[in-house]
Amino acid sequence: LARTAVLGFPRIGADRELKFALESYWAGTSSAQELFAVARAIRAQNWQRARDAGIDVIPCGDFSLYDHVLDHIWALGAIPRRFGAIDRNELDDYFVLARGDESRKPLEMTKWLDTNYHYLVPELEPDQQFDLRADRWIKSMEEAAAVGVKARPVVLGPFSFLKLAKGLKRPLDLLERLTPVYVDLMRRLAAVGAEEVQLDEPCLVLDLEPGEIDAFSDSFEAIKRAGPRVALTTYFAGLDHDGLLERLLAAEPWELHIDLVRAPRQLESALRLASDSGARLSVGVIDGRNVWAADLDAALARIGAASKILGSDRVTIAPSCSLMHLPWSAAGEREIDPEIRPWLAFSQERIEELALLGRCAATDTATREQLLAEPRAIQSARRTSTHTNNPTVRARVGALRERDFLRSEPAPARRAAQHARVPLPELPTTTIGSFPQTPEIRAARRGLKSGTLTESDYIEEISAEIRRVVDFQERLDIDVLVHGEAERNDMVEYFGEQLDGFTFSTGGWVQSYGSRCVKPPILYGDVARPEAMTVEWWRRAQAMTTKPMKGMLTGPVTILQWSFVRDDQPREETCRQIALAIQDEVVDLEAAGCFAIQVDEAALREGRPLQRADQDAYNRWAIDCFGLTVAPAAPDTQIHTHMCYSEFNEMMDHIIRLDADVISIEASRSAMDVLDAFAEREYPNDIGPGVYDIHSQRIPAVDEIVELLALAEERIGRERLWVNPDCGLKTRSWAEVEPALANMVAAAEQRRAAVAIGR
Ligand code: GLN
Ligand code: ZN
Repeated sequence: LARTAVLGFPRIGADRELKFALESYWAGTSSAQELFAVARAIRAQNWQRARDAGIDVIPCGDFSLYDHVLDHIWALGAIPRRFGAIDRNELDDYFVLARGDESRKPLEMTKWLDTNYHYLVPELEPDQQFDLRADRWIKSMEEAAAVGVKARPVVLGPFSFLKLAKGLKRPLDLLERLTPVYVDLMRRLAAVGAEEVQLDEPCLVLDLEPGEIDAFSDSFEAIKRAGPRVALTTYFAGLDHDGLLERLLAAEPWELHIDLVRAPRQLESALRLASDSGARLSVGVIDGRNVWAADLDAALARIGAASKILGSDRVTIAPSCSLMHLPWSAAGEREIDPEIRPWLAFSQERIEELALLGRCAATDTATREQLLAEPRAIQSARRTSTHTNNPTVRARVGALRERDFLRSEPAPARRAAQHARVPLPELPTTTIGSFPQTPEIRAARRGLKSGTLTESDYIEEISAEIRRVVDFQERLDIDVLVHGEAERNDMVEYFGEQLDGFTFSTGGWVQSYGSRCVKPPILYGDVARPEAMTVEWWRRAQAMTTKPMKGMLTGPVTILQWSFVRDDQPREETCRQIALAIQDEVVDLEAAGCFAIQVDEAALREGRPLQRADQDAYNRWAIDCFGLTVAPAAPDTQIHTHMCYSEFNEMMDHIIRLDADVISIEASRSAMDVLDAFAEREYPNDIGPGVYDIHSQRIPAVDEIVELLALAEERIGRERLWVNPDCGLKTRSWAEVEPALANMVAAAEQRRAAVAIGR
């Protein structure tokens, strides 16, 4: 019979217990013992709920107090020298790696493949030594056994560990040294009774060089001989390119797990190859990354196909990946429209779906029909709901023509029209949008939500804050002002709350990193904008000044990327709907008299698919959606965009096609090097390279900024150069923002007075 397997659980607990326990431990208000007790309870709950559902293969060793890659660094003893004396028996030393202290910077953090989860980046040296401690896995096996679960340890594989690391020119050169450490680990796990190990190798789905696969194969050969059977686990993309599946199955894993949610087409070749090689196949048929109740018939069709070719006893039924990217349970979501609630599946519901699939696969047709009646009814209700089918939205998207994605005039004509409408000085100064989010602002927003503050009192409070922000900018003589975004909790949620097609959970938290959690909006239906979202605030702000006040919007790709989005149509289709809704706002801002409108696309780059083969299509539709959003703006309306990163080298074609009149980017930390990419391509539009790092509390000196501006002029000339920080100021305090911006303006003035460095 086919067995069922969970590949990993959420770690923060049903009510974010881990977050609160961590923060209280860090604050010194609770003990390590209390923290451990909370963690133990979360693990036990996860094991129990999987066991109660009747899941066959239950993971252990996937839990972490902070991050699983950090735990792996810790277990391998791969602690960077710069941390000095670190005692691996000390919990506080563990947290120093994650959070740093007065004298030590923490390990760098970056996104876990294409998810919004952040892992801590291993920092390795060419002569890196390892010193294995296997207790992380052994203890978790014992702990699971104590609640009656014989669990399968999850181990991050050596190939991915090295690919995720930094500090080495050729990280895989270390594989030869790391492999014996894994062999040792496998032996130790076997010695305490592990018959099977889940070896996670997500990095196998990346575009690989042939030599890299050779290195993997050699290492895997040794590891799989060490004792336990190895379930080689891949996710987030497919393996059916460049002969990768052939290569992996030739390495003869006991079982191979493939993600059929992201890459369904690989099933056919995987089955053919697995049937030849004798490997078992674990089919990831339900989504570990998204919150929609599964189409169980579609999943069963795949399970059936696998069973037919391999025999059901060589098939494992699984979610596409670990459930750590899902919230705990949708059962408590009372605030969500009762029509929509049953469409949702968080980790609890996913576990139940998995168990149900196991039962369906094992039973006769009549029983199966019975078991599937309710889930089928839910699927068909969702398919035919008016929420997912708004004819007006569909007609509007359907009627789009190529010209709807382009502005009416080319950049030079727009530039002239904009200069004529609002003459700005050389090196115009501006900011990215948000100003400090003070406790008072947060209290006001909470007050409005809970009803303790009336609407008019709220408007008054926020207006006072806008007044403060505007007066401050006028005092500094900044050229293009912002209103400060005091009314916004979050750049995506703020818009989602005002758009049709979005809903918000109360408990839908997922881990972002450590104790940080996010609650992504849930985009369930056709997106439309019932009424203007930002125009009133903009109008108020503009009335306070004669200088241009920027309108401030979040772009469609970023809204898409930071939400749980519907899975019943392509992402690009959903993105076009969002683009049209934001376009409505652009049109209304312009009609209200707004000269400069900024459309932030912070997530444009991170939305890019993992594999090169899919990236072109993504780039095309993502850039098109930005175009669609701003296309109707008149030539003399200045469209700004902002992107918070500085790797533009392989993005330049797309940035050029984006054709924003002004783009602000991160640049200060790389000494304006990022502008080389723009200079090389003779980027035709205006650029505002961030002149100081807002992520640091350091106040930049005037000289420093002057120097950066000179470096920027050297690369792109003065004519197209803007002066701004590298991101919004909402995480900074007024005490930091005031001197920093004053220095920024002073630096711009100094440069204006100096002879231009021409390009
Ligand atoms: N306008 C937003 C702000 O200033 C942009 C934030 C971002 O790019 N992450 O906060
Ligand atoms: Zn930013």
